[in-house]
This record gives sequence, structure tokens and C-alpha cells, in this order.
Amino acid sequence: MGSGGGQWIVEKRSSFRSEPLEVNVSETGCLSIVVLGASGDLAKKKTFPALFNLYRQGFLQSNEVHIFGYARTKISDDDLRNRIRSYLEKGSAKSEEVSEFLQLIKYVSGSYDTEGGFRMLDKEISLHEEFRNSTEGSSRRLFYLALPPSVYPVVCRMIKLCCMNKCGWTRIVVEKPFGKDLDSAEKLSNQIGELFEEPQLYRIDHYLGKELVQNLLVLRFANRFFLPLWNRDNIDNVQIVFREDFGTEGRGGYFDEYGIIRDIIQNHLLQVLCLVAMEKPVSLKPEHIRDEKVKVLQSVMPIKDEEVVLGQYNGDEEVVLGQYHGYRDDSKVPDHSNTPTFASIILRIHNERWEGVPFILKAGKALSSKKADIRVQFKDVPGDIFNCMSSNHAIRILLDHSIRKSMSVKQPGLEMSTVQSELDLSYKQRYHGVTIPDAYERLLLDT
Ligand code: NDP
Repeated sequence: MGSGGGQWIVEKRSSFRSEPLEVNVSETGCLSIVVLGASGDLAKKKTFPALFNLYRQGFLQSNEVHIFGYARTKISDDDLRNRIRSYLEKGSAKSEEVSEFLQLIKYVSGSYDTEGGFRMLDKEISLHEEFRNSTEGSSRRLFYLALPPSVYPVVCRMIKLCCMNKCGWTRIVVEKPFGKDLDSAEKLSNQIGELFEEPQLYRIDHYLGKELVQNLLVLRFANRFFLPLWNRDNIDNVQIVFREDFGTEGRGGYFDEYGIIRDIIQNHLLQVLCLVAMEKPVSLKPEHIRDEKVKVLQSVMPIKDEEVVLGQYNGDEEVVLGQYHGYRDDSKVPDHSNTPTFASIILRIHNERWEGVPFILKAGKALSSKKADIRVQFKDVPGDIFNCMSSNHAIRILLDHSIRKSMSVKQPGLEMSTVQSELDLSYKQRYHGVTIPDAYERLLLDT
């Protein structure tokens, strides 16, 4: 368990059977991290940089950890290192640190559906474990699947067959999308569940690793003044918004299969909604938080057609988005695709706290601006004596690191009039010099 905040930020499946706990739970000693799909986009942009940052901060020790990249592409260790180097050499990273870290990485090439490559991988990991003189129960193997979900089942089967840790824990991390609908998600869950126990499985939703998403729990439950206000009597609506100012940019093939609802709303925004709407959990234990989220989801009413807006960005002569004019101009998107790239959906939670309060979830690609925020809009003050047109009081949690609370205050001067102002907690100003960890860093640390 990382020092960052516990396992609750990666999702553990709700279950009615009692889960056997992992037998060997050593959290120190020889650690092998295997990035499957190491040749891909996510690995170079997020996974390796997150591991590097953990290494820089001393969470991964060079005398304990080794990192293995695995994929079909035939490249050498150095080819992989060169591919990812520029993604690590950012900010204050020193080039010696980058080089030291890259030396911890080894690459193994192999297919995802045959044993040969995985046997080779197991051999390499075992060599590392022997080199580190791992004693019984003290080695750890973490497999991170930075792969398309179509290969999760076969890859998990191969890991089970060829790469299980014989003297310590083995854990599997899977990325989104976890299935396409209920049937495919359950099928995937069953396929992987036959191979591994639930405590060994981590389904990552990187939104939960964002600093400000983590802060939601603290804001809500550690501030007395919010406690009596956080309900239908005081809150008019809640908006959870994700906007990107670029399009699918070459990832249209993947995106077209899923669309904005599956890609953003049903996972990231719904997780945020749960944290905004749930009751106080018994403790910060992952199971307790999960249980409260489940109650919220069970109280969500079926969505009404008239409360959904869908859209797709198309060509605009004036604004050229990336290299494409419109979504369907992406060569990987079918000409007649009607996959939504924008959606606005109202969810209604049928419980004592939230009855009648719309939760408006909006997500879109290729929009005029980039934004990810949560806006909790308060109702107007009854019996207004100041002639405010609308008090428009809200708290906004901007996921790029600020929290803003709008308020009415007296306009400075001799007249008694009101003006809208803001309490503004901008992390850059307030926590100057503090590095905010990337969401993936926190997730990997917790796994
Ligand atoms: P990529 O398309 O880059 O695939 C990763 C690697 O998987 C490739 O380098 C390739 O390696 C292998 N691969 C690709 N397609 C197939 C296939 N059809 N069958 C078998 N192997 C294949 O994906 P990403 O790295 O972008 O994403 C990986 C996972 O992470 C996906 O589930 C994605 O949804 C998720 N994700 C990605 C994000 C991102 O920003 N990229 C963000 C959040 C989640 P090789 O050919 O060498 O074996």
C-alpha cells in the first residue's frame, strides 16, 4: 500500500462472497513491474513517466525494483529506452536520473497468446529475483496491462500459466475500457476472475488518482460548514464537466468503438458523481468507500431520452482541429459513423439527500476550450433584501488544481450594494513549490 491514500482509488469489485485475502502480502523486497503493451501510447506517455517519478521520489528503489516491458514489436532494450526517454526528460528531471532509471528497464518481445514469450519473461523476472536474493514470500510481481481490452483474457491466462510468483504476491492491473456493456464487462470479469482472486485485481480509473478528486472526500467530510448544506434543500444542481480542445487525433479507431459515453462518462464522471453524492463512509477503507458508491449508483433513476444531448464534431472551415477538420475525417473512423463525441446527460438520484437535484454530466472532444471541473450550484438565498438579480453561489472544483467558492460581498465603497466575488484556492499559488503527483503515479503506488 502506498503512503498516498490507500487502495480505494483503484476499484475493487463488490462481491457477496467472502474474499480470501492474499496469502503473501509483503510490501518490501524485490519488486518486478511488468508493463505489457510497452510499445504503446499509454506506456510511453503515462506508465513509464509515472514509474520514473516514483523512482525519483524514492518510492521505487534501484536495489529492489526492476521494470520489464513486454510487447510483440521486436525492439531491443535500448530501442525501448530511447522511445521513452523524451517523455521522462521533462520539468526538473536530470538527465543522469533518467539514464539511471532507464537502466532498470528490460524489454522482452513475444506474442500475447502463446507461451514462448511469457516463459522468456518469467525467466528474466526469476533471474532478477535470484540476483536480489529474494527470500520466501518477499518478492512481488506487478503486471500492468497497457493493452487493448480484447487481449486481457488471453494475457491473463498466459500470466497465470507461465509467470506466477512462486514466493510472493502477483497482482494484475487492467486499464479502461473494461468491456463495452454489461454483458461484455461481466464476461471479462468472469474470465479474469477464474484466474485470479479479487484482491489480486486492480481496475484502474485514473480520474480517482487526481489530486482534486481525492480532495472531494476531505472537502465534503472534513469541513463542518459543508455538512448541513450538501443536500437538496440547498443545492440547485451539480455539473460535472469534461471538455477537450482537441479531437481523437489518430485514436479514432479505438474511440469509434466506444464513444464519449463509454470513454469518459460511465467511468470517470460517474466516479466523480459518486464521490460528490455519496454518504460518509464508515472509514477510508476501500470496501467502505466502494459500498457507499454502490448505494449512489443503485439510486440513480433510468435516464430520460429528453435529458440527453448527443453530438459529433464535424469539419469547420475556420477552425482546423489537429490534423483533422472533423471526426469522420480521421482515416480510422468509418465515413458514416454516428458515434457521439459529445454528450450531456442528466442523472437523477432517487434518495432522501438528492431527490429533485439534477446531476448534469457533460463530456466532449474538439470543443472550444479544455476543462475538467465540478460545479456545485447553490440555491438563491430566500427573502433577498439586496436586490441581487441572482446570487449564483457555487463551489467549483477545477481538476487542474483550484477550488473556487463564489460569494456575494459588499461592493467596497459608500454605497450598500453587493458584488459577486470568489474565495480562490489555487494550488500553484498556495502550495508553491509542491509537486502535485500525476494521477498514474498515485495509482501505481497504491497497487
Ligand atoms: P495502443 O493502441 O498504443 O496499444 C498498446 C500496445 O498494444 C501496442 O503498442 C501494441 O503492441 C499492442 N496492440 C495494439 N493493438 C493490438 C491488438 N489489436 N491486438 C494485440 N495487441 C495490440 O493502446 P494505448 O497504449 O493507447 O492504450 C492501452 C490501454 O490503455 C487501452 O486499453 C486504452 O484504452 C487504455 N488507455 C489509454 C490511454 C491513452 O492515453 N493512450 C488513456 C487511458 C486508458 P505490439 O504490437 O508491440 O504488441
